[in-house]
Amino acid sequence: AGTLMQGRRGLIMGVANDRSIAWAIARAVAAQGAELAFTYQGEALEKRVRPLAASVGSDFVLPCDVSSDEDMDRAFGALEARWGKLDFLVHAIGFADKQYLRGRFIDTPREAFLQALDISCYSFAATGRRAAALMGPGGSLLTLTYLGAERWTPHYNVMGVAKAALEASVRYMAADLGIDGVRVNAISAGPIKTLAASGIGDFRYILKWNQYNSPMRRNVTLEEVGGAGLYLLSPLSTGVTGEVHHVDCGYHVVGMKNPDAPDL
Ligand code: NAD
Repeated sequence: AGTLMQGRRGLIMGVANDRSIAWAIARAVAAQGAELAFTYQGEALEKRVRPLAASVGSDFVLPCDVSSDEDMDRAFGALEARWGKLDFLVHAIGFADKQYLRGRFIDTPREAFLQALDISCYSFAATGRRAAALMGPGGSLLTLTYLGAERWTPHYNVMGVAKAALEASVRYMAADLGIDGVRVNAISAGPIKTLAASGIGDFRYILKWNQYNSPMRRNVTLEEVGGAGLYLLSPLSTGVTGEVHHVDCGYHVVGMKNPDAPDL
């Protein structure tokens, strides 16, 4: 255990279970002394999130569905009432109707498009605005994205379009908040088998493909994403904002299939 995050308070949004990327980041910052609050979406997840929070010494667990302005107001109101000030926010939330995470992007209906963009993109600005209002210099906002924002990847469809908008949001939010000393960054994680990922068509194929074709010939671990999260939330990265940082064993530099990779 270290002291890099000693005296810093943060909100973690997006823990569904102990495989969640949000949880990996929570563990990494808690191990460095951060004090944490958590939000969960819906009652079913509360009983998963409470014990995880307790294991890092937190009883500060709040409901928040980011499709509801009232939920967000209530959650940040509770944070302000108990803590007054906030040092960091982890936004590890994404959603698209899995019916449209296969087939053609062009066939996405308006409703599914708007819902994916609302929950996966708008919610970062909406929660970031509320969080930044409680922050001073040294504040840090972090979200999670994927390579499918930059390039076509199979089945990612409307989620890729939502992530592209999310990555642009990181740049605009960084410009909005830089003057206040608040930084805004994203981690572009390689594929990891989580609850959200299981909604994506052929996810096992995507995992294998990345394993065989990434420069490091393996997939990234939850702990590695946690470590990158710690860096971006901590004073180690005070000069970094507006960045989309790839934590993917180098897959994003690859332009062609590895000729030595087995057929999939
Ligand atoms: P996960 O299923 O553990 O987490 C997704 C979270 O989003 C869940 O906690 C869920 O409750 C929450 N969520 C969905 N709709 C919500 C709503 N309306 N209100 C509040 N919360 C809501 O999966 P994960 O893979 O840890 O996903 C976290 C983030 O990481 C997502 O943005 C995802 O796109 C991103 N990401 C994942 C991968 C991967 O391969 N797993 C790769 C790159 C980026």
